[in-house]
Amino acid sequence: MRRQYDVLVVGGGPGGAIAARTAARKGLSVCLVEKRPAIGVPVRCAEGIGKDILTEFVEPDERWIAADIERARIVAPDGSSMTLEAGMAGNEVGYILDRKVFDRELVWQAAEAGADVSVKTRATSPILEGGRVQGAVVERCGQVERVRADVVIAADGVESKFSRWCGIDTTVPLRELMSCAQYLLTDIEIDPRATVFYLGNEVAPEGYLWVFPKGERSANVGIGITGRKSGSGHRAKDYLDRFVRRQFPGGKAIECIVGGVPVSKPLPSTVGDGLMIVGDAARVVDPLTGGGIYNAMFTGDLAATVAAECIGAGDCSRERLMAYDTAWRTSRMGKAIERNYKIKEYFITLSDEKLNALVHTGASIDLAEFSTFTLIRELIKRNPKLLLELKALRDALS
Ligand SMILES: Cc1cc2nc3c(=O)[nH]c(=O)nc-3n(C[C@H](O)[C@H](O)[C@H](O)COP(=O)(O)OP(=O)(O)OC[C@H]3O[C@@H](n4cnc5c(N)ncnc54)[C@H](O)[C@@H]3O)c2cc1C
Repeated sequence: MRRQYDVLVVGGGPGGAIAARTAARKGLSVCLVEKRPAIGVPVRCAEGIGKDILTEFVEPDERWIAADIERARIVAPDGSSMTLEAGMAGNEVGYILDRKVFDRELVWQAAEAGADVSVKTRATSPILEGGRVQGAVVERCGQVERVRADVVIAADGVESKFSRWCGIDTTVPLRELMSCAQYLLTDIEIDPRATVFYLGNEVAPEGYLWVFPKGERSANVGIGITGRKSGSGHRAKDYLDRFVRRQFPGGKAIECIVGGVPVSKPLPSTVGDGLMIVGDAARVVDPLTGGGIYNAMFTGDLAATVAAECIGAGDCSRERLMAYDTAWRTSRMGKAIERNYKIKEYFITLSDEKLNALVHTGASIDLAEFSTFTLIRELIKRNPKLLLELKALRDALS
């Protein structure tokens, strides 16, 4: 690790890795620091991602694909279900990754492109001069070092502190922080080609429970509920345990994780002087699905691209870096977040009866093109009474 770089990336998740890879490929000197002793562990993710979006950034490789998914099943509170078959998505539904390997591969690609990587290295504060970020103080294996950089890319995930230290309010309201728990369950009967989503206020209030296959007889079985629904005796893990006892009584948990997913609006500004914020740290998770891997990679790539332009022009002021903020907000990803936020706000108000009605309708839908958006638009079109309930949603879908 040197004392001075063009770009310093804080965090070695998908957002940071792709930022470092893009910056290095553009010829910048770049260093990625990761506080954990190893990239990719522990995994705090259900590991699902759409094939089409993943391949924008990385060639699929069987080393980090745990399951190839052909269909999705949505189960209503009353137990009825609808299945979305691969044909609806042009046979390109999705993968369940092995993020332990995937995250390492992304960081390896950054290193291969020329980035320095330093694990067990925690950014502890920004170097601030005249209100501008000029690098970070890092603690590497217990030793404190100052690393200067023209731009710091904060990719430090949901627990992000870096941008807060730089004066940006990153608070996520409790009601918009999904509280999650997940087991990697083995020795269970599943359809290894299908993801299953369980809905309902008894199963997962204001959230959903997922079963994502990781092979023939194992799956990530997890749940996310909103922070305001969580409390003593009814935490995410309590709901999950009840479900597992009922659905997979013989299953063996070989991993247990808990974590948070921000389903709030993104930060009002994702740049500062000498600072760019990407991925979960920027709160750019899809608020409806909780999916954030792609959005982290997308913003990481975009941030590094804009950083390269600004460093080349010798101007890394907030005004100049705003090109990044504007670009992701006006991108397909940014628009999807805005729209899905409104849909999420609507969905969390639905009673079990209404969820049942939606799934019953969905069972008869045959969509030419499948996406979360097309599915929801179709469901609501067929249940006009629901649509009337929320003008904002009607506007969002018009
Ligand atoms: C239970 C659960 C299930 C999920 N399921 C899915 C899913 O199926 N599909 C999907 O797309 N998304 C899912 N997500 C969300 C997804 O995991 C995140 O959106 C994604 O990992 C965000 O990537 P990131 O690079 O922004 O942050 P992260 O992957 O969180 O990486 C941030 C990194 O920064 C490091 N770091 C933090 N602070 C510092 C510091 N001060 N110095 C140095 N390093 C630091 C952390 O150790 C971490 O490695 C899930 C999340 C949870 C919790």
